[in-house]
Amino acid sequence: MSFVEENDPEIFEAIQNEWRRQELGLELIASENVVSEAVLEAAGSVLTNKYAEGYPGRRYYGGCEFVDVAESLAIERAKKLFGAEHVNVQPHSGSQANMAVYFSALAPGDRILAMNLSHGGHLTHGSPVNFSGKFFEVIPYGVSERDYRIDFDQVRDLARKNDPKMIVCGHSAYPRSINFTVFKEIADEVGALLMADIAHIAGLVVAGEHPSPIPHCDYVTTTTHKTLRGPRGGLIMCKEEHKKKVDSSIFPGNQGGPLMHIIAAKAVAFREALGDDFKAYQQQIVKNASRLAGALQENGLSLISGGTDNHLMLVDLRAGELTGRKSQQVLDAARITTNCNTVPFDKRSPFVTSGLRLGTPAVTSRGMGEVEMDAIGGFIGRALAAPDNEGLLAEIAEEVTMLCRRFPIYPNKGKA
Ligand SMILES: *Cc1c(COP(=O)(O)O)cnc(C)c1O
Repeated sequence: MSFVEENDPEIFEAIQNEWRRQELGLELIASENVVSEAVLEAAGSVLTNKYAEGYPGRRYYGGCEFVDVAESLAIERAKKLFGAEHVNVQPHSGSQANMAVYFSALAPGDRILAMNLSHGGHLTHGSPVNFSGKFFEVIPYGVSERDYRIDFDQVRDLARKNDPKMIVCGHSAYPRSINFTVFKEIADEVGALLMADIAHIAGLVVAGEHPSPIPHCDYVTTTTHKTLRGPRGGLIMCKEEHKKKVDSSIFPGNQGGPLMHIIAAKAVAFREALGDDFKAYQQQIVKNASRLAGALQENGLSLISGGTDNHLMLVDLRAGELTGRKSQQVLDAARITTNCNTVPFDKRSPFVTSGLRLGTPAVTSRGMGEVEMDAIGGFIGRALAAPDNEGLLAEIAEEVTMLCRRFPIYPNKGKA
């Protein structure tokens, strides 16, 4: 009997159902992952009880000697992992990491150059409905219609014309490698600060599967829960010269007490990422993505930019009648979880969209490899070719469940 089961059967049931959903379905949302049992345990630990405003050795409350150990370990491990001069492990999320960097480096009304949301940027890179678009003047850049790669001629041109205070790179729905060297050249030419948001690709970066932005950027932000496979949270890295302003922008600027249980879980995840297995794991994520991309194409689907260099891909549905939203719903019925996504030059609304974003971090974490990617490509191809055939979708859902049973997420937890 669990404590939640005894004290709160409604929440217990929601948790059990969510576990079953994760265990028996295919999680292809590119920003999701499955953490280790050690990360889960640290995140559910007594450290949640502790207030620790401030930083290790400089706290506003007593009794911080043990949470100081946890935060110092998280900091040291993150520095080693990324080769960063300074890190702050306290951001509650990727969005708060970005907010703290902006408010440390910019004044309201300052101009930033950032990726267009519909070309793969993030809400916090200047969407008008987000704080970033309300506080700052945002000049969007995008991909070229020729090859769907970042249009550096446009980036350079916009930088020269608009003289931004900061250039932001790093994206949420961009299937190709990012050339940080060119961004740095452009930033230097116009005297702008450079920030990379590697929320999606942080795991690939630490494993050497994607170039590192650290040598080129003033600031690097990331989430800890996507390819990095840690607890839900954020992380800031910066050059030594920016550290005071960044730290005070997180606390007291943006946040109160840090989530010490999550910081401990980040430390556990960083230790895992420093281990030998992590590199092979990230390599497998990339191999799986490339194989899944090929399988989708063999099943008649077309991909933005013709494939992927990283952990994600975007199915391009502009040519047909099937929308991104409908595709997401069809795949839900087959127990395959994805998200609809705008594609560059999309004519449909952001609620409907002409794209479907897929990623391989979560299925790779549960041990699936290239053979399974071929099977998944087949499931998706069959489902999207017959979107209104409920019998077929139920059949595929059965096959998905059989595949998932062979790759339990938490083998020690028993059967879902
Ligand atoms: C996911 C993501 C974020 C935001 O992370 P949250 O933890 O959801 O706030 C920021 N930037 C990029 C590029 C992302 O993909």
